[in-house]
Amino acid sequence: MSQRNQELFERAQLRIPAGVNSPVRAFRAVGGAPPFMERASGANVWDAEGRRYIDYLGSWGPMVAGHTHPAVVEAVQAAAAKALSFGAPTESEIVLAEAICRLVPSIERVRLVSSGTEATMTAIRLARGFTGRSLIVKFEGCYHGHADSLLVKAGSGALTFGNPSSAGVPPQTAAHTLVLDFNDTAQVEKTFAARGGEIAGVIVEPVAGNMNLVLPKPGFLEALRVQCTKHGAVLILDEVMTGFRVALGGAQARFGIRPDLTTLGKVIGGGLPVGAVGGRRDIMEKIAPLGPVYQAGTLSGNPVAVAAGLATLKLVEAPGFQDRIEATTKALVEGLAAEAKKAGVVFSAQSIGSMFGVYFRATPPTSFPEVMQCDKDRFNRFFHAMLERGVYLAPSAYEAGFVSAAHGAAEIDETLKAAAEAFRLA
Ligand SMILES: *Cc1c(COP(=O)(O)O)cnc(C)c1O
Repeated sequence: MSQRNQELFERAQLRIPAGVNSPVRAFRAVGGAPPFMERASGANVWDAEGRRYIDYLGSWGPMVAGHTHPAVVEAVQAAAAKALSFGAPTESEIVLAEAICRLVPSIERVRLVSSGTEATMTAIRLARGFTGRSLIVKFEGCYHGHADSLLVKAGSGALTFGNPSSAGVPPQTAAHTLVLDFNDTAQVEKTFAARGGEIAGVIVEPVAGNMNLVLPKPGFLEALRVQCTKHGAVLILDEVMTGFRVALGGAQARFGIRPDLTTLGKVIGGGLPVGAVGGRRDIMEKIAPLGPVYQAGTLSGNPVAVAAGLATLKLVEAPGFQDRIEATTKALVEGLAAEAKKAGVVFSAQSIGSMFGVYFRATPPTSFPEVMQCDKDRFNRFFHAMLERGVYLAPSAYEAGFVSAAHGAAEIDETLKAAAEAFRLA
């Protein structure tokens, strides 16, 4: 890493903890100094030294249409020229709400917020307020933002209460969250049999994208639906990452699961801060001022952010968009697996929609413990070899990757050429 990035990283650390405003950006998992970014276009980003990278981070998901898409930039500029914020209702919020309800039919009513964290925090509160119960079930390795109730890891046994996964979360708060194993249907059934009457809701990433990429086993999401219905608990699909990526209607459309609540973020803001929580009308109408569950936001439904989201959804909805991007993503993972094989590296990869996972392991993992078996050191060497060759992957072995509509055959070719060398160095 040459001079300018290093200088910026050192200067940043004098005023910003670890030099970053979100922890994984600091490159602690992979080592070294992160490039500081300056501009982006289509499939590419450029750093402060003018180096170009093919980007598979996509701002951690939002940039599905590609960076600085002219239609999105124009919409943002037009909205900004009219008003930056009112703190009063606008028509564009209705249009975005209508689009969300049309694309994700389980959503009958929706509230816009400013981040995925706000969306999941509100969904949890709604589930508790609606049911009058306190317990929340989540799954190890799934990430739902950084609200206290959700920064919880498994206790010593599945049926014991969870432990805080962050300092500053009171054990009493964590005690209201049960942490189970993703894809373990029998454990879910056992938990509901024992404590069903106390469970307010289950929150899950329908495709886990925060422990690398783990697909749901057949029957797992279905079992969550069955158990929640049977015991009167609220099923929350956290589609902050999967929404408009795994399919136009999200993972719930792809797997045919109708949740009670859905959380959205990332793509619906098109790169600006937007999140949403929506679902069944009877649950959503418990929210203030119609009901007793409080939620609010100074910048919620911000006109500039909403304009970016609307312009992005319009692109995502265009006929053929999802099929094309899914095919590109498939070509990428198949190509990577082929290059690894040629290099004799133990490796596997898979994709769904425009999300992908790469694993230094013989087969794709189906659980959190299996994810932990991936060869992290090898990933880190591969990551740096790719970065040096102008390919920007998420800086951790435990993150999913993202392809945008701006990635095409030329970008895949260039990526695979880099990978052919990087696998030999890994
Ligand atoms: C990113 C993410 C969140 C948190 O969203 P922020 O906008 O970062 O607060 C929540 N859930 C999932 C599944 C995510 O991927």
